[in-house]
Amino acid sequence: MDAVIAASLFVLGLAVGSFLNVVIYRLPREESVAWPASHCTTCNRPLSWYENIPVVSWAVLRGRCRTCRSRISVQYPIVELITGVLFGGAYFAFGLTPLLPVRILFACAMIVLFAIDLEHQILPNEITLPGIAIGFLCALFLPPGWTSSLIGLLAGGLFPFLVAEAYLRIRKREGMGMGDFKMLAMVGSFLGWPLVWVTLILSCLLGIVIGGGALLVSRRGMDTRIPFGTFIAVAALVCAFAEPSVIGLYERAVHAYLEWAGLAS
Ligand SMILES: [Zn+2]
Repeated sequence: MDAVIAASLFVLGLAVGSFLNVVIYRLPREESVAWPASHCTTCNRPLSWYENIPVVSWAVLRGRCRTCRSRISVQYPIVELITGVLFGGAYFAFGLTPLLPVRILFACAMIVLFAIDLEHQILPNEITLPGIAIGFLCALFLPPGWTSSLIGLLAGGLFPFLVAEAYLRIRKREGMGMGDFKMLAMVGSFLGWPLVWVTLILSCLLGIVIGGGALLVSRRGMDTRIPFGTFIAVAALVCAFAEPSVIGLYERAVHAYLEWAGLAS
């Protein structure tokens, strides 16, 4: 039975992922996400139903438009698969509880922000600002509860903002953008304050390892803008779906540090 429900959610996730692709493509271009129907972005021909089947169509067409033969990005099936896996995984993480649709909605927003930040280095207000409000409204009835959500929202948005302001004063250079703070505020409002804190630490680690590595390879120096939102998205998804393990790991790390520093036994 578990497998059937998870598989159904997976298939639903594939279809939702297909819609997320539309959002990812159109939102930064300020096009409507509802109209017109899916079309080839090169020759503008509307897609028929059998060209719109998640993952399968892309594989059958071998990543090319049927008429103009232009390449269709591999990002499309990847986004669909990731969305499907997160939908299915949400069932094992939360069961059929009211938290399931909330965390799924959160996951969809993180996927969209991840992809848009990676390509355009922006985090659209259309996602982050309603996200902050929706996260807080859901927390009135569900975990993490409204106090944790409110602290998370403020800590997520304000604390990194102050750090970045200090960095700007000292280095005369921007470390993070306003979009990052709004996105972190959204993470805080959905996940509450302990998890937004862990998300921030985790995304900084990811940024140092992956972003630093990419900078070394590209040799373009420190002026390259690192899409920090992509790291926040990955870290927040890990925190949202593996909350108990993440918190446990964090507590052990803090304890190990305090022991090392001689502050605890
Ligand atoms: Zn085409």
